[in-house]
Amino acid sequence: MTAGSASMAAVAGNRADLSAARPLFFREQAQVLSNATLAAGLHELRLESPRIASAAAPGQFVNVLVAEGWDPLLRRPMSIAGTGPGVITLIYKIIGRGTAAMSTWQPGDRADLLGPLGRGWEVPADGFPVLLGGGVGIAPILYLRQHLAAAGRTHHLIMGARTIGEHFLGHEPEAGITLTSDDGSVGIGGTILDGLAHFRESLNPSGGPLSLFGCGPPAMLAGLQRLATREDVPCQLALEQTMACGFGFCQGCSVAMRPRPEPAAHSYRSRYKLACIDGPVFRAGELL
Ligand SMILES: Cc1cc2nc3c(=O)[nH]c(=O)nc-3n(C[C@H](O)[C@H](O)[C@H](O)COP(=O)(O)OP(=O)(O)OC[C@H]3O[C@@H](n4cnc5c(N)ncnc54)[C@H](O)[C@@H]3O)c2cc1C
Repeated sequence: MTAGSASMAAVAGNRADLSAARPLFFREQAQVLSNATLAAGLHELRLESPRIASAAAPGQFVNVLVAEGWDPLLRRPMSIAGTGPGVITLIYKIIGRGTAAMSTWQPGDRADLLGPLGRGWEVPADGFPVLLGGGVGIAPILYLRQHLAAAGRTHHLIMGARTIGEHFLGHEPEAGITLTSDDGSVGIGGTILDGLAHFRESLNPSGGPLSLFGCGPPAMLAGLQRLATREDVPCQLALEQTMACGFGFCQGCSVAMRPRPEPAAHSYRSRYKLACIDGPVFRAGELL
């Protein structure tokens, strides 16, 4: 188990967010506790990973080594979906060879993790938090929900999927959970944006300003960004940008930022951020 580099500490700096006081990451051989199907296409992996569990903050991720040899070479980034004493939970979807390999892991197997990585959610003191998770994008949303619940902060969760079989929570709007399904088989028929519209029209308990937190497919994030910009609603988005190292070395996960007028903002580092160390969570208004 190795502590992350001092340069990472310098890069992470002093951020007024949930990961502020936790700039270091670790390499940890985590023991698989369970690996089970959660819903159609979704799997939940619980790992004993005490160093990462105690250092992690909502919105951060781990980079998972999926093979002992050279192939596949690159680690696979996975959001932390929750923590317990000494334990982290990941929720994953089988996409290709890496996630297919993860699905074969049995209790007692070891997984080589780097983490916790990245910059997590900022939770502002004001604004009613509405958490929006599309498909496997629910993972970092559930960890934020765990944090808000522990802090006694009222919030609402909207989870979207194509159909009922892809859901693992119940549609209980009065208890703070709204489900949406593209085919109308459960909850609100339509996309997560339809679920958000429904929440704003009929459920918003205070009628006051909202603070949005979203993770999901690109079309969902683009829709949320448009809504947040148009209506000036505070909104943070967690990007699942393809990346390699996960800690700022390879520069492979650049994200274009909205140009700003001041000359100091014309540098490369102002125009392009790295999803792995500047994100994966960004303010919606910053993204191009
Ligand atoms: C910060 C972060 C957090 C993530 N959290 C989760 C999570 O909680 N659960 C989850 O299931 N997935 C998550 N992802 C996406 C996950 O990393 C990819 O699905 C995974 O790397 C695919 O690996 P593979 O070997 O199975 O597929 P591959 O065979 O490597 O890829 C198959 C296809 O998937 C796409 N892909 C590959 N890597 C990524 C990537 N990093 N991001 C987006 N698309 C990719 C490519 O289009 C590729 O053609 C996250 C990604 C990032 C960057």
